[in-house]
Amino acid sequence: MSKENTKYDLIIIGAGFAGLYALYKAIKRNIKVCVFEKGSDVGGTWYWNRYPGARCDVESMQYSYQFSKKLEQEWVWTEQYATQPEILKYAKHVAKRYNLKPYIKFNNIITSSHFDKKSRVWNIKNRKGEQFKARFCIMATGCLSSTYTPLIKGASSFKGDIFHTGNWPHKKINFSNKKVGIIGTGSSAIQSIPVIADKAKHLYVFQRTPHYTVPARNRSLIYGNGDNSYTKREAQGFDVDLTVEEIKADYSNLRKKAKNMFSAMAFDLNKKSALEVSKLERKVEYESRWEKGGVPFIGAFIDLNTNREANDTAAEFVRNKIKQTVKDPQIAKKLVPNYTIGCKRLAVDTNYYETYNKSNVTLVDLKDNPIKKITTKGIQTTQKEYSFDSLIYATGFDAMTGALMNIDIRGSNGIKLSKKWANGPKTFLGLAIQGFPNLFTITGPGSPSVFTNMITSIEQHVDWIFDCFDYLYTNGIELIEPSEESERDWVQHNQDIAKPHIRSSCSSWYRGSNVEGKPEIFLPYVGGFPAYVKKCEEISKSGYKGFLLTK
Ligand code: NAP
Repeated sequence: MSKENTKYDLIIIGAGFAGLYALYKAIKRNIKVCVFEKGSDVGGTWYWNRYPGARCDVESMQYSYQFSKKLEQEWVWTEQYATQPEILKYAKHVAKRYNLKPYIKFNNIITSSHFDKKSRVWNIKNRKGEQFKARFCIMATGCLSSTYTPLIKGASSFKGDIFHTGNWPHKKINFSNKKVGIIGTGSSAIQSIPVIADKAKHLYVFQRTPHYTVPARNRSLIYGNGDNSYTKREAQGFDVDLTVEEIKADYSNLRKKAKNMFSAMAFDLNKKSALEVSKLERKVEYESRWEKGGVPFIGAFIDLNTNREANDTAAEFVRNKIKQTVKDPQIAKKLVPNYTIGCKRLAVDTNYYETYNKSNVTLVDLKDNPIKKITTKGIQTTQKEYSFDSLIYATGFDAMTGALMNIDIRGSNGIKLSKKWANGPKTFLGLAIQGFPNLFTITGPGSPSVFTNMITSIEQHVDWIFDCFDYLYTNGIELIEPSEESERDWVQHNQDIAKPHIRSSCSSWYRGSNVEGKPEIFLPYVGGFPAYVKKCEEISKSGYKGFLLTK
């Protein structure tokens, strides 16, 4: 086995959108760089999440890179919400256009990354036993890339096909004439259930907690396809109700607007409180957003994320929509969530609730009827056994920390990251970790990441890191890591602002509560993209205050 031991200036782990952009920047700066990628191609989350119906719930005109004006202009998105294959095609296009692939080692799983204090380098090993060295290490391992499969008694006895939405096979799976069981009703399930139900002989949905979802009202963006394409819509005068041509004529304006928003996505946020308007005005606002579709529903009023009473007006509106859509009142009752809307990530769907009107779909409410075990034929609940040919886990991810903790990362005193994070992740800005010099995490825990348009957050992180590299090179600084104090304060600040937030008011992967044994601590930064960027800029402008710099 070859022990390559090549020394790089920079090693990047992951070739998703974060790794690709970091690589692009490194090549531009003539940095000796190498990317390691577990998959056989680029795309990260969009490489793995190939389940039926997978698409992005951020508008495609916004869910794209903005570092290149040419790229922005030349790429053509065909739908308002792009499908997984289209986003993957875009990632491949970027890799080809900027000749990134020669720098990427595919099918390469990194198992360890240890910092050697004496030589001041990271020693990185892959599963094949090959070793590499680098001065800097960027973890571009993704927030939702380590799948979570709950341990259910008897799981290995199931004789049919088993799938996980987050690690879907690369061949076409045909569910025609098959009976299918799916565990979970989060965003991935909400997208796949209607598509699978269209084909399957029967679909059993095993629901532990009902999820809120709003209609996407997806549409074609190609001229001549569909009603609204390339035609300015009259509706509501929303800021981003522009045609593709109009957006492309002034893309930077849309991007600027987005960066001023909490979520780094441009949409019309109503500045009024839900409680200051009449019942009728509230209903009109909710109805128009429901008709328009997508996550901007939650922007109907300014306080839906901060005030429970206000939040309940939106939640009640959606609960009524579910009851109106689902014909069987008993089924509708089971689908109605009783917690705050937007606490778990608001899902966006096409025909989700309508699917429960189909005769080939059965909703199994695990609250009344919990799973006892998985059997050779299907799932045994306390009430009966459900038999099927294929079992799908739509059970989500060990979010934000899983992919990092899966690698044996050790810092300057040999301290293991998994040990340091045993009671929850500790980072400064979600970008760097005390005791782990010259290592950066892109969209790590403690950054806005999953609350934002991910590509915008990725670009902001990568730009910040490369500006930092420039500063280090110019000033002859060899090592950078956060001080203990700045890291402690940032972690505390994160928890302080998360506590009163609606997103803390239920159990979710944001809090790590979906994974058995994972410490419950709020993972992303909930202060919004603009406040976060301001903080990052203050730090870089101050000569990296809060970091320890060693010559
Ligand atoms: P998720 O939101 O964590 O949902 C997992 C589902 O599995 C939940 O319904 C959960 O129930 C259920 N579950 C977990 N363990 C279970 C068990 N032991 N027994 C029964 N049910 C169990 O995961 P996801 O749907 O994959 O979505 C994760 C995130 O990925 C999303 O929030 C979103 O950020 C992202 N995503 C985005 C898109 C998009 O852009 N359109 C699409 C898919 C995913 P409980 O609620 O009771 O825990």
